[in-house]
Amino acid sequence: MTIVINMRELDERKMRIAARFIREGKLVAFPTETVYGLGADALNEAAVRRIFEAKGRPPDNPLIVHIADFEQLYGLAEEIPEEAKILAEKFWPGPLTFVLPKREVVPSVTTGGLDTVAVRMPANEIALSLIRISGRAIAAPSANISGKPSPTSAEHVVDDFYGRIECIIDGGETEIGVESTVIDLTSSPPVLLRPGGLPLEEIKKVVGKVEIHPAVRGYAADTAKAPGMKYRHYAPNARVVVVEGRRERVRRKIAELIEEYRRKGFRVGVMATGGSYDADAYVNLGKSEEEIAKNLFKALRELDKKNVDIILAEGIEEKGLGLAVMNRLKKAAGYRTIMLK
Ligand code: AMP
Ligand code: MG
Repeated sequence: MTIVINMRELDERKMRIAARFIREGKLVAFPTETVYGLGADALNEAAVRRIFEAKGRPPDNPLIVHIADFEQLYGLAEEIPEEAKILAEKFWPGPLTFVLPKREVVPSVTTGGLDTVAVRMPANEIALSLIRISGRAIAAPSANISGKPSPTSAEHVVDDFYGRIECIIDGGETEIGVESTVIDLTSSPPVLLRPGGLPLEEIKKVVGKVEIHPAVRGYAADTAKAPGMKYRHYAPNARVVVVEGRRERVRRKIAELIEEYRRKGFRVGVMATGGSYDADAYVNLGKSEEEIAKNLFKALRELDKKNVDIILAEGIEEKGLGLAVMNRLKKAAGYRTIMLK
């Protein structure tokens, strides 16, 4: 049985119901500013194991632990470097996750067997209140069946998990729409493991040099430190093809491909930042990087519901949130990209 709690505004009385589920080792999906999370008590091994089962998530793909106060970090991480303090001061609560050496109390199921733990403080009142009222750190990966596009609304969570988890808190659409930026603070300089809701440029302004893990752009030779990056991800049922290059050329190419695929009898969907196309389905992602990030996962889910066979996606520049958007798009495409000069 799944209880769906409608919470467009924070309601502490209702929140106590959800918080009790967390304390009892049950699963609660909740909104954050990035995407919806599928939460359980991070230090309760059996509860965390249920997250993996519900999602069908590979056991070596670690979870992010969510906290509501900086002090909570001391209970999870063995060492807290100066950079973590400076970055937290500037960006927490917010879409930035630190990877730090874990304390022994953190079960290895939570960290996918690694001796490091990923932690962040979400900038969402509902998420913060759930953490505070339950009195627990909450492990929460994105609340989607493993491999599917991440959920940006409670409806998406209902589609994937209704009847399979105890509780879904409906807090409306998420603001940012892509997951948090993950940065490894166990090495110096820090390493970007996953681009996300906080642009890399912002982090560099604070800590100077940041290395970029090769998996970020898709060259995943060594994924030991970025385990999440090796899996097929964010993928709708349709085959996705990303077309990158100068805008006019990209649009012309997409128009050509639509014709070509339709001639072969495929149903074709398009995801673009403008232009007009003679496709079976079309989603306009918007113009700014922020709008595109916000609409991306919803668009992939919507196009799937229209039963298209192919999704042609317009690539965008890899700056600001564009780096996170392109990382998700390329993964959704299984790295099928067409690069136009
Ligand atoms: P999700 O919450 O579904 O976006 O997945 C969490 C992601 O955070 C994982 O797939 C990893 O990319 C990253 N992550 C979590 N814990 C660690 C860790 N200890 N080391 C490196 N990356 C991590
Ligand atoms: Mg995920």
